[in-house]
Amino acid sequence: MELTAKIGMHPLKETTCVDCKNRLISSMLLSLESFIVIVMIRYYDAFLQGLNFFLGGVYRLILYWKKLKCFMLRMDIKMEETSRYNQLQMKHSQEWEDICISCGGCCGVFDGDPCEDLIMIETGKYYCRTYQDRFGMHKTLSGKSFRCVPVRNVLDKSWPGDMHCSYKRKI
Ligand code: SF4
Ligand code: SF4
Repeated sequence: MELTAKIGMHPLKETTCVDCKNRLISSMLLSLESFIVIVMIRYYDAFLQGLNFFLGGVYRLILYWKKLKCFMLRMDIKMEETSRYNQLQMKHSQEWEDICISCGGCCGVFDGDPCEDLIMIETGKYYCRTYQDRFGMHKTLSGKSFRCVPVRNVLDKSWPGDMHCSYKRKI
């Protein structure tokens, strides 16, 4: 037999032998395969259960992830709609406010006893000094109490000088 490498000592010839090493490796592999087959047969059910559990977990994770993505998408759409709605409302609100010609008629300027918060800025033009916080109870110059409400709430009613009101003339 030709010696090709010094891998291990031959038991009889006290030399190295590649065939011995190959036989040793083959038998070890065979043992390992047998061991794996025995383990698989013995723990087959447990292995299947574990695999089932693992795949179920992965499937649930994918489902949760998809649900989360759907939820986030819905939230994005909702926020976008709310933002667009608010912008539209602000635009309409501003357009509505711009209609007013500030004649002061709805604040009592033509009946001789206007609201005490009404200030004249020039002839025929007035402004409310509590405009941002105007809704609620107020007093006239003579001390009469009344409730200030949005003008749209009283457009179906009449008051002295309401023919000047630009809202009334518009509708
Ligand atoms: S509180 Fe109301 S009624 Fe008085 S001035 Fe302002 S808007 Fe007019
Ligand atoms: S009467 Fe009409 S136009 Fe005049 S201040 Fe009041 S809301 Fe504006």
